[in-house]
Order: sequence, then C-alpha cells, then structure tokens
Amino acid sequence: EKTTETFEPIAIADTASQEDLIWNISLQARIDAALANGEIYLAYQPKIMVQTGEIVGAEALVRWNDPVKGHIPPDYFIRQCETAGRMSQLTRFVLEEACEAGNAFKAAGLNLPIAVNISATLLHERSIVQMVSEVLARSGFEPHHLTLEITETYRISNLDLAAEILGELKALGAKISMDDFGVGAASLEALLRLPFCELKIDRLFIAPMTHDPKALGIVRSVLQMGKELRIIVVAEGVEDAGTLTLLRDSGCQVAQGFAISKPVTYDKILQFHASSEIQTLKNMV
Ligand code: C2E
Ligand code: MG
Ligand code: MG
Ligand code: MG
Repeated sequence: EKTTETFEPIAIADTASQEDLIWNISLQARIDAALANGEIYLAYQPKIMVQTGEIVGAEALVRWNDPVKGHIPPDYFIRQCETAGRMSQLTRFVLEEACEAGNAFKAAGLNLPIAVNISATLLHERSIVQMVSEVLARSGFEPHHLTLEITETYRISNLDLAAEILGELKALGAKISMDDFGVGAASLEALLRLPFCELKIDRLFIAPMTHDPKALGIVRSVLQMGKELRIIVVAEGVEDAGTLTLLRDSGCQVAQGFAISKPVTYDKILQFHASSEIQTLKNMV
C-alpha cells in the first residue's frame, strides 16, 4: 500500500522538493497571469436580515475559471496561492474589486456593506494594514462598509501580533468578523483576544440543526454568546427554508446560504435590489 516507504527517505525529499519548486514556479506564473487576464473574478453572496429578508451585506467570494481546467474551487487554489507566495497579491486584487463593486452598488442606489475574506496567515505581517488602507483610500469606499472575514483563525500563530494588526484594521474603520466559527482549535481564545464585532457560525453546525438536537443546542448557545458579547452572529450555509425558520425562532439576526441565494455575479445583486426578487427573499421568512 504505502509504496513511498520503500524509497530512500532522502531521495524522496530531494525529488519532492525539486518537483515542488518547478510546480510552484509555474503556479506563481499561472496565478499572476490569471489575475492579469480576468480568469480570477468575484462572486457575491447576499447576507440577509432573518426577520425581514432585507439584504444587509454581500460577501465577495473569489472564483477562478481556468481556460483548461475550468472552475477551480477556492478552498483548493487559496492553498495554492499560499504555497506560491501569492496570498497578498490575491487579497489585494479581491479588496480592490470588492471596493469597486461596493462603489458601483452605491452609485446604483444600493448602499451595501461588502465582506472580504482574509486568510489568517496574512495576520502574521503588518503589511496587510498598509494594503487595506491603500485600497480604501484609492477607491474611496466607506471603511465602515468593509467587513474583513478572518478565515482559519486557528492558524494564527501569534495572537498578540494578530490583535495589534486587527486593532489597526479596526481603527481604519473596517469591521472585523470571525469566519467559520467553531471549526478548528482555539476559536474561543481568538474570540476573547481579537477585536471581532461579528462571528459566522460554520455550516458544519447550521446544516444539521433541523434534525440534530446537539447541533441546534450549539447554534443556540452561540447565538446566546453573541448577545452577551454584543456581537452579530451570522448563520452560514443555510440550505433550506426549515433551517431559516428555526434560525429566526432561535433569535438569529443574519443569515447566508443557498436557500437565500447562491453566490452570484455583481449584476445579479443589482437585479435583486431593483426587481421583485427581493420579495421572494422576504417571503421566505
Ligand atoms: P467561507 O468564507 O466560509 O465562504 C462560504 C463558503 O460556503 C463559500 O464557498 C460559499 O459558496 C459556500 N456556501 C454558501 N452558502 C452555502 C450553502 O448554503 N451550502 C453550501 N454547501 N455551501 C454554501 P466558496 O466560495 O467555495 O469558498 C470557500 C472558502 O474559500 C471560503 O469559505 C473562504 O474561506 C475561502 N475564500 C473564498 N474567497 C476568498 C478570498 O477572496 N480570500 C480568501 N483568503 N479566502 C477566500
Ligand atoms: Mg467568509
Ligand atoms: Mg465561513
Ligand atoms: Mg468556509
């Protein structure tokens, strides 16, 4: 089975690192090209007020449509970006696009807060503060309408430094959100020490809540905790009307998921705003 164990370990290491090197060099070039020629773009997923169905925000989710491979899942290529040392480039691109979209939404009469995902690994360096500040200044997008969703918080290696960096990002006016809450170790420690004003309960807990009392108990406890801490709790991955109703009855304020809308193009968000489709969202709750 484990055929690799029959090789000399040193030989594997040498071969692997050379291959990695070549792979990473081509990966860097491919990512740079994809960013430059429009293969990488953003989809937007509405966040709604559970009580009213009102759209209260949109999360920008990166998409890569490779001409050969087709759509590459973000979870996969975000890892690749990290490996290839391209996380900063990707994040700058996403921030710029998102702020531009935010401005365009506003020009169309939709004054919508926009959320951008920020990898926890970017909180290991202060340069993220400079980046966000530059993008905000250049775009003129209102800082308090920008939410930074910190993903994979458990990967933060230095909470003191992360707290300082997030404090500076907050001072710029951005809102700081803890993504994928409940998944991975140390999430309560992160909640205690980092300046979050929102937390997003991971789909892992939301998906089974209508049939798993344990999941429901956890979700309700997190909603209660949100109240105590005076932070907004967002339910992620709401896939059906039953879950949405249960969330409403449990006092959840904000929800996001396929039941409300899949991530869509920028035009579609404007359409939701202009057309009666927003009514459909309202009728669901
Ligand atoms: P996330 O930030 O937790 O985003 C939510 C993910 O769940 C998105 O997947 C979204 O399409 C998906 N989703 C939303 N509602 C539902 C639902 O009802 N059911 C199911 N099954 N899925 C739902 P996506 O777009 O594939 O992104 C995956 C992850 O990749 C994101 O998770 C985020 O961690 C990361 N990501 C996406 N865009 C960026 C980005 O620009 N920068 C960084 N650093 N990470 C990003
Ligand atoms: Mg997110
Ligand atoms: Mg999430
Ligand atoms: Mg996620």
